[in-house]
Formats: sequence, structure tokens, C-alpha cells
Amino acid sequence: MIKGVNHIGIAVRDLETSLKLFRTIFADAPIHREHVEEQKVDIASLQVGSVLVELTAPTDESSPIAGFLAKRGEGIHHIAFETDEVNTELKRLSDAGLRLINEQAVPGAHEMLIAFLHPKSTNGVLMELCQPKKAEAGTSADKE
Ligand code: ZN
Repeated sequence: MIKGVNHIGIAVRDLETSLKLFRTIFADAPIHREHVEEQKVDIASLQVGSVLVELTAPTDESSPIAGFLAKRGEGIHHIAFETDEVNTELKRLSDAGLRLINEQAVPGAHEMLIAFLHPKSTNGVLMELCQPKKAEAGTSADKE
């Protein structure tokens, strides 16, 4: 089951410049920073209610985000929907005829398992499914 929006991924060229802007918009939002080597990106996420606004900047020209910026410029990159069973959902959607970018979930930011659906199957919207790590007793929310 897909439970709701987890985060909105925004492709930016310069993380610090964009973070300054988004900190003005979402004053007091807790911020989490992370480098995801697989994607060659630096991320700064602002927690806005139950949704993360995830600013993503490439650290290398081989990053998929660098390709996106070159082609489309800065803007919304993807919308991520949360599920408890990402691989079950991928199977369900594949069986329903949708194209997937990831047939199986891969590690993403925030220690989540993530997978992308192919935008050719979803009206041009890049959609991600993500499965948060099971909450452990005593762990606190990510904060800078
Ligand atoms: Zn994402």
C-alpha cells in the first residue's frame, strides 16, 4: 500500500545558495544533510510537516542529477511516495504493465530503500517509492 508523500526531490545547481532560499521559505524546519555516493549527489532536506523538501545537487558530472539539470534546468525532479513494502509494490506495478527504472529497491538517503518508476509510464512525472527503515526505539529524528 502506498501511504502518502514522503518527500519532494528538487534538483539544484548550488546546494548552499538554494538551502539559504529554502530556509527563508521554511523557517525553523529541521535540516538533514547527506551525501549519496551511488547517485553522486549532496542532499539537504527540510522537514516540513510530514514531508521532506529534498534539495539535491550533483557532486560529479556523471550524476543523474547533472544530466537532469543540463536537460531540464533546476526544478522538481521527483515525488516520492512512502510504502512499507517497496518490492511488493514494484511487483504489483510491473504486473500492471508499468515500466520501472529499478526492478528491485536500492539504498537511498535516510537509510531508505528506494525505487523509481519510469516517467514514460507515469505521464512524465518521475515517481519514487520509498520504504523507511523500521523505526527503532530510542532513535531521534534526523537533525543537523
Ligand atoms: Zn527521493
